[in-house]
Amino acid sequence: MSSQSVSASASAIASEVEDLYRDLHANPELSFEEHRTAGIVADRIGALGYRVTTGIGRTGVVGVLENGDGPTVLLRADMDGLPVTEETGLDYASTARGIDPDGNDVGVMHACGHDVHVTCLIGAARLLVETRDTWSGTLVVLFQPAEEHGGGAQEMVDDGLYGRIPTPDIVLGQHVGPLPAGVVGTHSGPSFAAADALEVTLYGQGGHGSRPQSTVDPIVMAAATVMRLQTIVSREVAGTDTAVVSVGTLHSGTKSNIIPDTATLGLSIRSYESHVRDRVIGSIERIVRAEALASGAPKDPEIVSIESYPVLVNDPEATATVTGAFVDAFGAQRVLDPGLVTGSEDVGNLSTAAGAPLVYWILGGADPVAFAEAFASGRMEQDIPGNHSSKFAPLIRPTLDTGIAALSIAALEYLLPRP
Ligand code: ZN
Ligand code: ZN
Repeated sequence: MSSQSVSASASAIASEVEDLYRDLHANPELSFEEHRTAGIVADRIGALGYRVTTGIGRTGVVGVLENGDGPTVLLRADMDGLPVTEETGLDYASTARGIDPDGNDVGVMHACGHDVHVTCLIGAARLLVETRDTWSGTLVVLFQPAEEHGGGAQEMVDDGLYGRIPTPDIVLGQHVGPLPAGVVGTHSGPSFAAADALEVTLYGQGGHGSRPQSTVDPIVMAAATVMRLQTIVSREVAGTDTAVVSVGTLHSGTKSNIIPDTATLGLSIRSYESHVRDRVIGSIERIVRAEALASGAPKDPEIVSIESYPVLVNDPEATATVTGAFVDAFGAQRVLDPGLVTGSEDVGNLSTAAGAPLVYWILGGADPVAFAEAFASGRMEQDIPGNHSSKFAPLIRPTLDTGIAALSIAALEYLLPRP
């Protein structure tokens, strides 16, 4: 099947799923709450003839299409929205509200564009059914919960994913972002940063502020810990590697003349290579424990992992294959290398658990005219709202056209042609 005919079919399907996109955008759901979205997905792919399994990893949905001998290709989309109150002014803007994990009533918005991912994957699922006479193999379309939470992909794996569906030979997916609509961006090797969030509780011995000798002051312990943590990147990470260690929260005490019992720190860590991540996390643990020991803490500190996204590594050989197919289909001027992304993604958990290579690309969603103007005036950050912004508003067309075509073209690159 020619890439021109895939692109033409993708555009025809994009016209038909535009309304679905607007509906999903207007009805976002928080992580692990994607019940409505999962229901729509299951109905749509079931009607297309996929064998559907629901409720994997709570709200995950997977469709399988067995279409003869050949490799198994997994296409992935994530489904969750964010606790953001939408300010796009679009006529299909979300007014939804939800309860966040801390019990707060919050506005809910598809501020990361996962509605684009779901719509494009439903579109590609249809395109690949309609063209099934041209290819042979097994196609898996996977709709994942809770990407924003960092746990959705792993929760599907832990729920027996690969005992319930065929294990893929390749995992493919895309994330919409502020590149011009119509453009795709591929990057080989480490691409999205690993992100870890840790909560550290330091234990002291409280008492009167006038009698510090009778206490173990957790605030002094915390202050020494924060300063020493800042030596990890400067003294333990090689100049040719990169990492970030930020202390985003520090809570302790209630009154100036009381020395409190505890202090808690919230840490955020970013890295691109597993040996760097392991070193940084290990150093944090060592420093936290050693500062507690140095202070004479009555109890060992607690270090709890709150969130963990592994580094996303695009397989070099598979990335070259998919990039070549994109260049053939879209032309070289519509395929670029976006470089390293400081955001994080958990799609790598699906490929790692399968022992399969991963290719995960950026799908442009920004208005090309506004993008060109912002680029020329050096106002990208101010004028092109990025993911997680309350003003993030991907252009519907040709974003859906390109996203449906890109998933289909990448999958067909692996599915065997019918003799
Ligand atoms: Zn996001
Ligand atoms: Zn996202």
